[in-house]
Amino acid sequence: MDGVRVGKRMIGTQSPVTIGWENIPKVEGSQLKRFVFTWFQPFFWFAFIAFWYYAPNSLATASTGLTIGIGFRLLLMALEWINPRFESWQITWKEFVTDLFYVGLGYTILRIVDSYIGSDVLIKVMQTHFHFESFKWFTGLPLLLQAFLIAFIFDFGQYWMHRGMHNWYPLWLPHSVHHYITQLNVNKGAVGNPVELFLIGLGVGGFFDFVPRAFLLAGAIGGVGAYQHINVRFNSPRWWRFLFNTTEHHSLHHSQDYEATRSNYSGSFIFIDRMFGTCIDGEAELLGMEGGRRMSIPEQMTYPFTEGWKTLKEKFGRVSTVAVPAE
Ligand SMILES: [Zn+2]
Ligand SMILES: [Zn+2]
Repeated sequence: MDGVRVGKRMIGTQSPVTIGWENIPKVEGSQLKRFVFTWFQPFFWFAFIAFWYYAPNSLATASTGLTIGIGFRLLLMALEWINPRFESWQITWKEFVTDLFYVGLGYTILRIVDSYIGSDVLIKVMQTHFHFESFKWFTGLPLLLQAFLIAFIFDFGQYWMHRGMHNWYPLWLPHSVHHYITQLNVNKGAVGNPVELFLIGLGVGGFFDFVPRAFLLAGAIGGVGAYQHINVRFNSPRWWRFLFNTTEHHSLHHSQDYEATRSNYSGSFIFIDRMFGTCIDGEAELLGMEGGRRMSIPEQMTYPFTEGWKTLKEKFGRVSTVAVPAE
């Protein structure tokens, strides 16, 4: 395969990719359909920001956020059914069971974390040891700016953590499991080895009921990360795809082509990748590792450990075999 030159790199020499927005298919069909799939993302982005900005205190809680999150996820699943990006990514029973397992696991972990963070003891500890006064300068900023800064700092951390995962073997082991998925859909963000959840989720702390509104707003601003794995064909407006991570970007990150995976690391804000020269605009349909080998749930659970052990054995086990002279 020839591949396409992007900067100094050749992308798509191992597996087909599409590079450049002008080469990506558009939404086809009635005027109404095209309208909906062009403005859906911006509409809900502004709507959620407005909601968290104006909602009364009684409504602006983490549980409201969780409920909206679940409802919105169901709506996105309906969109995947109406207007899939790739037929080959459409849900099968096997994939659905896997997704259900991980989404369930995610909410269970969130529940447990929530029960600890929400406990009165911990709130007391936080209030005595965490000096909110020193953040006065921050809480004095306009609310939307606070929210944007929180979302940005969080995603900036995610970017470097994710990039680190692709460049340092001990971090790659737990993350690699997520890269074995062979299709994208809105629930696939949850699929991966749970160890990764702890690495990625270092900032989960936002889910308790007295959370400052700025955090809820930050969730709405950075929530565009939910579109990373969605199997829906959108005509994203130009400014949208310049600023935010899209399925197009993230599908390249999941490509079977190695060079393509070394791009688009951010979760929500693709402009962070643009800042550091790791952004590639394009998409891929053929995804996964080892030519698209599908992993079972038990293997997803154990892979980082078994694979790490194998590598250790190869590295240190060989010494003794080499020391034995042949004959
Ligand atoms: Zn990755
Ligand atoms: Zn992913």
